[in-house]
Amino acid sequence: MPSRLYVLYSALNPSAQTEVILDTPARCSHCGSVPAPFFETHAVKLKAKRIPHRSIGQRYRIEKRMLVRLPLCEACYLNDFLSTPDSYAFDTTPQGKEARRTTTLAGIAGVTASLGIIMLTPFIPAVGILAAVKPYWYVLLIAGVTLLIVTWLLQQRSQKAVRAELARIRPVGSQFRRADVWSIAVDGDLTPTDEIVEIHMPNEDWANECANLNGWRIEQSR
Ligand SMILES: [Zn+2]
Repeated sequence: MPSRLYVLYSALNPSAQTEVILDTPARCSHCGSVPAPFFETHAVKLKAKRIPHRSIGQRYRIEKRMLVRLPLCEACYLNDFLSTPDSYAFDTTPQGKEARRTTTLAGIAGVTASLGIIMLTPFIPAVGILAAVKPYWYVLLIAGVTLLIVTWLLQQRSQKAVRAELARIRPVGSQFRRADVWSIAVDGDLTPTDEIVEIHMPNEDWANECANLNGWRIEQSR
């Protein structure tokens, strides 16, 4: 069962205030290898200063994106890319670039295809210039679907390259899967001793050592 690790506000990078880097112990949080220069990244929302009586919309005065990063060796970094490529969008690595390109292309493809479908509906009246454009709704739909297929093919190609590299550096998979990470909302002002992140960490040894080294609370799931 995974350990539950509670990270304090004092761990937040003091300059940027948007990143928590857990680099102690400095070994891979999946397989224990050294060095572990890569990161498993989780984007969560730091929430503090609750606005009273607010049930819809923004419920905290402070709500901002925070990245929680756990150390990985190169092989575990590549291994996770095959199952969770979207989580790499914040990384300054070739896989990060690939993840951002996929998101952008898929977004453009979706909007283009949607415009084609909207043009087909009565919501777009066949008057003026729209009357001339409306019959060509299928061009947008085909363009959107084609771009979606191209995006998928590009993703398959990069994943094939990652698989080949992975087979070269380590033929077996990772020992542990990705952690589950949530933010913990703080009702009042943030203080260094507030717990702001909860991590369910499958690698109990790594989590225990991390808690001991940093002086954080840890609970073992039973
Ligand atoms: Zn590893």
